[in-house]
Amino acid sequence: MRACVIGAGLGGLLAAANLAKEGFEVEVYEKLPYAGGRFTNLDYRGYQLSTGALHMIPHRERGPLGKMLRQLGAGVEIIPSQPQATFRIAGKDYEYEELPSLFSLRDKLKITKILAMLKLGKATSDESYRSWLEKQIKNELVFKIADSFTGWSLSLKASEVPAKEVIAQTKNINKLGGPGIPEGGCGGVTKALVEVLQSEGAELHLKQRVTAIKQNGRAFEVVAKEKRNYDIVVSNAGPKVTAELAQEILPREYARAVSRIKGAAGIKISVACKKAMLGHSGVLFTPEAERINGINEVTNADPSLAPRSEHLLMSHQRLAEGADVKREIELGLKDLRRLFPEFKKYCRVLAVQVYRNSWPVNRAPSGTHLSPATPVEGLYLVGDAVKPEGWMETDGIAAGVEEALRHIRASY
Ligand SMILES: Cc1cc2nc3c(=O)[nH]c(=O)nc-3n(C[C@H](O)[C@H](O)[C@H](O)COP(=O)(O)OP(=O)(O)OC[C@H]3O[C@@H](n4cnc5c(N)ncnc54)[C@H](O)[C@@H]3O)c2cc1C
Repeated sequence: MRACVIGAGLGGLLAAANLAKEGFEVEVYEKLPYAGGRFTNLDYRGYQLSTGALHMIPHRERGPLGKMLRQLGAGVEIIPSQPQATFRIAGKDYEYEELPSLFSLRDKLKITKILAMLKLGKATSDESYRSWLEKQIKNELVFKIADSFTGWSLSLKASEVPAKEVIAQTKNINKLGGPGIPEGGCGGVTKALVEVLQSEGAELHLKQRVTAIKQNGRAFEVVAKEKRNYDIVVSNAGPKVTAELAQEILPREYARAVSRIKGAAGIKISVACKKAMLGHSGVLFTPEAERINGINEVTNADPSLAPRSEHLLMSHQRLAEGADVKREIELGLKDLRRLFPEFKKYCRVLAVQVYRNSWPVNRAPSGTHLSPATPVEGLYLVGDAVKPEGWMETDGIAAGVEEALRHIRASY
């Protein structure tokens, strides 16, 4: 059986490696000159910046991605973040368990109830996380903490994500634990997956954009530099691009429905620091910052991500649709200077990257549950628009690939 994978982002690489291991003859087409999409490194003067992600895996080695990498034999060590997170409130850092101490006795009781509901996975309605919280408590700091969490992990405000999605995600955090940093950052994962592809005999064609997916009898005809036939096609190019590529064979209503999906946008600021500004390898949530939702300093886990004795600090902020990008960047930089009074003395901004439109933070906002199976049998979707409920970021991608593989195994 011949399988074509369109796109060598994390979703495409995971799908291709699994299919190759299961005996398919696999060819991967990637339009860019490198593999990894938004999950690989950009070396800048010894600092390992990234094409997208903040070098973190949501549930470290315990989540769907860690599990899949192990099953594939991709040698990647994922270093657990210690602590998983802190919260900077009124200039002081608190760990998650310490947060209730900030509230009155009455609100403390309400917060204990909210935490129990999040842990037990209650609330099934379609309301937003913000509306759900407002029913339990009226406290601005709680809402800011919620926005900071969803802004960092989903690039959405709490009012933009369904409560049941956040509750399902929190359940997974409680069960599996928080993030970890792969050795070598995102690039370490991509490199290991490309090695698996090579050892399984799969072909990776870089700088080859696919321009059409057609059907030729029972086979698919994929048009890149040449036209080739395959038994199945797995697209990592995102649902919109896939619908355009396969416009001759996909129903119009499907194309119309996926064209309405709006991605989540964000801004990442990468900073070189002469000393550790954060001092730990978890996430610093910044609920009181004007724009920045959170910050990490991955060199506390893997020092090789920056030149010797230097540190790499990265901030993330949600970007609202239609916002003035220049102003949002200025506000993000202002937040960094406010959060770290010694910023000017020890830090230098390396890069400001804006993620939106065809290169977003998420091709579909969390809470959108698109099936990996399309209306055309044999044509599947993988990647960050195809994440099952409760799984965020790259763990969501791996869980979506697993679901796509279940569909493929059932049919082939
Ligand atoms: C600022 C930011 C921070 C993030 N932080 C984290 C984090 O810390 N942890 C985490 O887990 N996730 C994080 N994410 C999310 C994570 O980076 C993405 O979910 C993931 O990289 C997306 O992978 P993908 O395979 O879905 O898509 P992509 O990486 O976009 O891959 C799709 C590939 O398809 C190729 N392609 C498209 N069209 C064609 C075509 N016609 N022919 C051939 N090739 C084509 C593209 O060039 C691309 O390489 C972050 C994202 C951003 C932007």
